[in-house]
Amino acid sequence: MSRWILHVDMDEFFAAVERLDRPSLAGKPLLVGGSAEGRGVVSTASYEARPFGCCSAMPMAQALRLCPQAIVLPVRGGRYAEMSRQVFEIVRRYTPLVEPLSIDEAFLDVTGTERLHGPAVEVARRIKQAVGDELGLVASVGVAPNKFLAKLASDLEKPDGLTVIPPDRIHEVLDPLPVRKLWGIGPVAETSLRRLGIRRVGQLRAYSQRELRRALGNAAGHLLKLANGDDSRPVTPDHDAKSIGQEQTFATDIANREQLLAILYEQTQEVARRLRRAGLLTRTVTLKLRHGDFTTLSRSRTMERPTDVTDTLWAEAKAIFNNWARYSFQPLRLAGVTASNLDTPGGRQLDLFAPPIDDRRQRTIDRTVDGIVEKFGKGSIRRGPGAG
Ligand SMILES: [Mg+2]
Repeated sequence: MSRWILHVDMDEFFAAVERLDRPSLAGKPLLVGGSAEGRGVVSTASYEARPFGCCSAMPMAQALRLCPQAIVLPVRGGRYAEMSRQVFEIVRRYTPLVEPLSIDEAFLDVTGTERLHGPAVEVARRIKQAVGDELGLVASVGVAPNKFLAKLASDLEKPDGLTVIPPDRIHEVLDPLPVRKLWGIGPVAETSLRRLGIRRVGQLRAYSQRELRRALGNAAGHLLKLANGDDSRPVTPDHDAKSIGQEQTFATDIANREQLLAILYEQTQEVARRLRRAGLLTRTVTLKLRHGDFTTLSRSRTMERPTDVTDTLWAEAKAIFNNWARYSFQPLRLAGVTASNLDTPGGRQLDLFAPPIDDRRQRTIDRTVDGIVEKFGKGSIRRGPGAG
């Protein structure tokens, strides 16, 4: 049976929310992120700033050199979380099968909802409409038979895109695209493919599997699958998940450790927030670190007690990062944080013991922050990653 998956992705989310709150910012290049003096990183560059070369995960100082007239705005996490909650409230009207990918992105499985809501493309249209009418924001939506294609589709006509890839047009859409559009292909991999004369997805698909395996090793099978538009991963709502993770691929490799720590801290906060929202605890924290080529490292730490405390997760993530950085630092193309070994509170014998007092205090702090963020959406509550 063919599935219908939607990938909903808000356009320039943080910048769009800032513009919504301060209409005088309309039409101006905006950089939302940490200050250049504080060695901060761009979280979102508005579309007006992008032609100058500004993009997310770039050091603010560099973005300002490219576009000196840009207006720099601090990240108001609470306000974005509040708008995010409203976006998720809209998408859940159409299906309970919603898998959040980040604060402004989600997969939806709308297979079999036709009788209720019409065809998948109609659901996509209605979501875009509701996001625009009710929130004053813009979403791009991709509609396709699987997650990989849906995510690819939402990006094809951004901003304000609505792109459908029906099952009988997969090759037609994929074949002319440059190979870098496939998940996991960075500049180094692109170069090694180019050496084989492969620039487009269609050429990759037609290439001899054996030759490809010789050139790329294990990555060959993965890439051929994607080149054929195959992806069988299910859409998993957080409360059914085996793991909850956040990752980001950078436009260029990042060699600055503080910058990487700042990115990982943001991801850890988001993972912890999703754990608490789904009522889950985790015992294992994993960092995924990808170098410029295909090499991807996975480093985990498992804790004695399950937790959903932001600071506890961050202590583990930071320890993994520092350990790795001390002995084998390399510039990164991708970084991510995942919580696995998930459990519900009281789900284990271990939990017969009450959590230690410190933990209880931290959990109260987290709950208080979550509550304030959800209710008032004020950016008044700030947390920092602490010393590296
Ligand atoms: Mg987005």
